[in-house]
Amino acid sequence: MNLKSRPFDVETIFRKEVLAMSAYKVANASGLIKLDAMENPYKWPKELKSAWLATLKDCPLNRYPDPAAQELTATIKSAYQIDPQFEVMLGNGSDEIIQLLLMALPSNASVLAPTPGFVMYKQLSDCLGLNYLSIPLRADNFDLDLPVMLETIKLHQPSVIFLAYPNNPTGNLFSQSAMLEIINVAEGLVVIDEAYAPFADASFLETLTDYDNLLVMRTVSKLGLAGLRLGYVIGRPAIIEQLNKIRLPYNINSLTQLSAEFALSNHEVFDLQTQKICQERSLMFDQLNALTGITAYPSAANFILFKTPENQATRIFLAIKEQGILIKDMSPQGGLLSDCLRVTIGKPKENKAFIKALESCL
Ligand SMILES: *Cc1c(COP(=O)(O)O)cnc(C)c1O
Repeated sequence: MNLKSRPFDVETIFRKEVLAMSAYKVANASGLIKLDAMENPYKWPKELKSAWLATLKDCPLNRYPDPAAQELTATIKSAYQIDPQFEVMLGNGSDEIIQLLLMALPSNASVLAPTPGFVMYKQLSDCLGLNYLSIPLRADNFDLDLPVMLETIKLHQPSVIFLAYPNNPTGNLFSQSAMLEIINVAEGLVVIDEAYAPFADASFLETLTDYDNLLVMRTVSKLGLAGLRLGYVIGRPAIIEQLNKIRLPYNINSLTQLSAEFALSNHEVFDLQTQKICQERSLMFDQLNALTGITAYPSAANFILFKTPENQATRIFLAIKEQGILIKDMSPQGGLLSDCLRVTIGKPKENKAFIKALESCL
């Protein structure tokens, strides 16, 4: 067949929302110290690695995985002492859970989240043609602008509200009383995204019992298992039941199920790594703030957002990259992120190299 005789236009095939989107870009980090993506920098001790490989040895790859990942789900429930009245659904990363949740909404639904926030809420809402509402955080402390949030909820009755706790990319924990007020007023679902729970001394897990419309979402990515792609959401069975209908049956592969179960059963390793990361965070915070022209914002996560002198962020980002270290330039997003860069906490040596590189280009 002659292809040229059959003109084909992708724009006639795909939805306008999809055509208008741009793909989520991930920077190439090859050869660079990687402080851009909130990964845990530490590997596993040798003995642990051998024990893990031994558990994978007999994994029946010819068979489909357990569609409900029952053993892993049970391990998660017990590891985090989840009240048996709640259900847990697993996702291929918490990104997939956000996607599932949004896919289940009516096509004219509104979705609300503060900005700056996690980009996937908007990306996935836009892709599905939902009405995405973003309310700027307070400029003075990155906390929720409660009056505007409440007004927007009243006006638009969003089906889902996302609150990341701690927030990415600002790193702070929103005021608890403001969050509770939002949960109280909202008639739709409120998803507390606790991706950074391992680094924060705070959680809404205990609050689940008090509200019908609350979901708590977590991931093992930032804890140190980003390569597995595993997230989970905890909430009332009536909500989880609906989400389970649109979840693909084998969304958690066999290797992830086995590996995550193994890892969570050996959580002491991650507890230690998390402690080290938190110690380094406090060091890094002080070192950043000691630099002339730099303001670091307090963080309860495994990264720090900091402000650079006016109109210098991209130049500084590139100069640091030139010295072999990849962080994240937030300044193109503008608004409260103008002049801001974000650095993930790495190993002590990596953090030192970063501070030195930053200092040299100020
Ligand atoms: C990283 C991140 C996620 C995504 O986690 P995955 O489980 O890796 O998909 C979700 N929410 C926030 C706020 C994040 O920063």
